[in-house]
Amino acid sequence: MKFQSTNQKSKLVSFRDAVFKGTAEDGGLFMPVKIPKIQDQFFKDIDKFSFQEISFFVAQNLIGDEIPTNELKQLINESINFDAPLVRLDKNINILELFHGPTLAFKDFGARFMAKVLFYFNRDQNKEITILVATSGDTGSAVASGFYNIKGIKVYLLYPSGKVSQIQEQQLCAFGDNIVALEVDGTFDDCQSMVKRAFKDKEIEEKLILTSANSINFARLLPQSFYYFYAYKQTIDKTKPLVFSVPCGNFGNLTGGLIAAKMGLPIFKFVAATNINDVFPIYLKTKTFTPKPSIMTISNAMDVGNPSNFPRIISLYNDWETLNEKIFGVSFSDELTINAMKEIFEKYNYIIDPHGAVGFLGLKKYIELEKMKHFNGIILETAHPAKFVDTVEKAIQTKIKIPTELEEILKKEKSSIRISNQFSELKEILLN
Ligand SMILES: *Cc1c(COP(=O)(O)O)cnc(C)c1O
Repeated sequence: MKFQSTNQKSKLVSFRDAVFKGTAEDGGLFMPVKIPKIQDQFFKDIDKFSFQEISFFVAQNLIGDEIPTNELKQLINESINFDAPLVRLDKNINILELFHGPTLAFKDFGARFMAKVLFYFNRDQNKEITILVATSGDTGSAVASGFYNIKGIKVYLLYPSGKVSQIQEQQLCAFGDNIVALEVDGTFDDCQSMVKRAFKDKEIEEKLILTSANSINFARLLPQSFYYFYAYKQTIDKTKPLVFSVPCGNFGNLTGGLIAAKMGLPIFKFVAATNINDVFPIYLKTKTFTPKPSIMTISNAMDVGNPSNFPRIISLYNDWETLNEKIFGVSFSDELTINAMKEIFEKYNYIIDPHGAVGFLGLKKYIELEKMKHFNGIILETAHPAKFVDTVEKAIQTKIKIPTELEEILKKEKSSIRISNQFSELKEILLN
C-alpha cells in the first residue's frame, strides 16, 4: 500500500516512510491511497476470529505486504495483547471498554502498535531512533509505556511542570531506562514549540534520527480501526443498525471508525460527541470549520480547539452532505456530563469516566432525535474512571477502586529532569 498526503502535493510514500516522517512534506497527513474493501465472507465468519486475528486481517489490508505475514502477526500479538470487551447496559446500549491496556486509556492501542512498527523497521539498523513528544497527559504516558524497554529507541517526553495531574505525572516519570521525562518550567505550548524547533534544527537533524509519536502518525491511527470490527463481532443481534458514539478531541478515534466503515464494516451511523470544544459539530451544522482556542473541561483529553485529524475526515468524505449522512455531531457541557455519570451509575450500576459520559450523552441524543427503538448502540469508553478519580467520585458520590496497575505506578519513585523553557537546554540534552 502506498500512502498519500491529504494535501496531495507530495509524492506517494511507503508505509515505512509514512511512519518515520509522521507528516508529509506539503504539511498534509498521510492516508492510504485507497481504502481496501474487505470481502463479505470475513464479516460472515467474524465470530470465529479472535481480536488479534481480526486486527491482523485489518492491518494487512491497510498496510499490504510491506511487513511479511509472520512478522505482522507477531507485532500485533505483542501490541494488541489486551482485551476490548463489549459490556451491555441494556438491550440497545453497550460500552466498548478500551481501557484495559497498561495506562488505562485507549491511546495504548496506538502507542503500543507504533512502538512495535518502529522497532520492526529499525531492527537491522544500528542507529538509535529518538522520539520526541510534548504531552499534557494521556498521550505521553501511553507513549512512555508503549516504548519502554524497546531496543534502539529512546524517548524524550516534555511536560509542563505543575500542569498535569499527579497520576499523569507519575505515569510519565515512573519508567526511566530508555524513557526520559523532561519537566519543563513553562506551559504545554512552550513544550510543543520546543519540540517543533528540534525538528527544524539542522544540527539535530544531522546527528539524530528524530521521529514524533504524536497522534497524527498513521501508525497510531491504524490500530484504532481494529476494535470497531471487534465490537461488531461481540454484538449479539447483527441485524440491528450499528451506531457508534465516539468521544472526540483530535478525532483520531473517529477516523479509525470511518476507515473501518470504508472497509465495509456495516456501520449505520457515527455520533461524534464533544465537550464544549465544539468546532466539529459546528462544522457539520454550518459547513464552516473555524478553529478556536481550547477551553478547559472535566473531559480534558478532548479539550481541543483545532482537531488535527480534520483533513483526514475530509479526505474520506469530501462532501459535506455525505459527511452529515454518516456522522451526527453534538456537544455537551460539564454539567450535563456530570449528570450523565450519575445517571449511568444509578440506572445501570456502571461507573463511566467523563469522556465516556460525553459519548453516552451523544448516543442518547441521537436515538431520541431519530426515535430509534432497536439498534446496537456502542459507546467507546476511552479511559478507566480511576484516571479521573476526583471528578468521578464527586459525580457519583461513591468511592471507586483504583486498579492495581495504577497503584503500582503511584508507588514508584518519580524520575525526571527539570529544564527551563529554553530550546538550547533541550538541544544540549538531545545531543549528549
Ligand atoms: C485522547 C483521548 C480522547 C480523544 O481522542 P481523539 O482520538 O483525540 O479524538 C478521548 N478520551 C480520552 C480518555 C483520551 O485520552
